Amino acid sequence: MFETLAECPVCSGTSLSNYLICQDHSVSQEKFAIARCNSCSFLFTNPRPTSERLPGYYQSQDYISHQNKATNPVNLLYKFVRYFTLRSKVRLPARYQPVGELLDVGCGTGHFLKEAQRSGWSVTGVEPDPRARQLAETNIQNKVHPHPDDIKGEKYNIITLWHVLEHVSDLNAYLISLRNLLAKKGTIIVAVPNHNSLDATHYKEHWAAYDVPRHLYHFDQSTMQKLLAKHKFKIVDTLPMKLDAFYVSLLSEKYLGNGVKGYINSIINGLKSNSYAKKNNSEYSSLIFVIQRK
Ligand SMILES: [Zn+2]
Repeated sequence: MFETLAECPVCSGTSLSNYLICQDHSVSQEKFAIARCNSCSFLFTNPRPTSERLPGYYQSQDYISHQNKATNPVNLLYKFVRYFTLRSKVRLPARYQPVGELLDVGCGTGHFLKEAQRSGWSVTGVEPDPRARQLAETNIQNKVHPHPDDIKGEKYNIITLWHVLEHVSDLNAYLISLRNLLAKKGTIIVAVPNHNSLDATHYKEHWAAYDVPRHLYHFDQSTMQKLLAKHKFKIVDTLPMKLDAFYVSLLSEKYLGNGVKGYINSIINGLKSNSYAKKNNSEYSSLIFVIQRK
């Protein structure tokens, strides 16, 4: 059911300490510990559900990244944020690569792929959830694969992972697979939550982007750099996702049960988080890492 990692997935260090205890607010209501590596300070959910058990933690009316219904204010805001972030996401690949072959890993129902396709990209998707995968295939009228290793003999000049890397069980094997799928001078775009943001340090164990146990890893700029360096990648750009500060704050307020006051708090905390990040090493709520081979 659960497995405990004896060593850090980034540096293989075996000296670990307890960092936080967080609750799964959206599905199981169970509590999970986040461990911190004493050598490289990487944070990861430990113990965690086995890869066989993990899909069970995605079965929720609240877990809407795979669904199209907007039923409450948080879901409505999620759709609003998604609409605006979608526009900026779609423009990003062309800043680094000529329009060509694009692979979106963890593509959900294929919204991003559909927009990328409209912008001229030749698109392929990876999505483990069978229901979302089927919807994505209808959306883009093309094959969507369950896992990157199911793709044979293709190379992509852009690979995108929008809030996906924190979900994959075998982090290192996954990065090796992605490296094999990347064209020689290709670019990988990875967006993840940043636990060094002000909204994270404000909400602590209630920070919605810890999202245990679905988020197995909790990155910051330093640990992301270390992980990528191990796989012979370099970060060529680090970009903010400013709307995430508001959305994550709103969700955190909801978990705290703060009602209408929570809406006001989340606007204030979203603004504070973005203004802090501007002055402090781009510590935004979520970050986009633009990556190339070393
Ligand atoms: Zn470590």
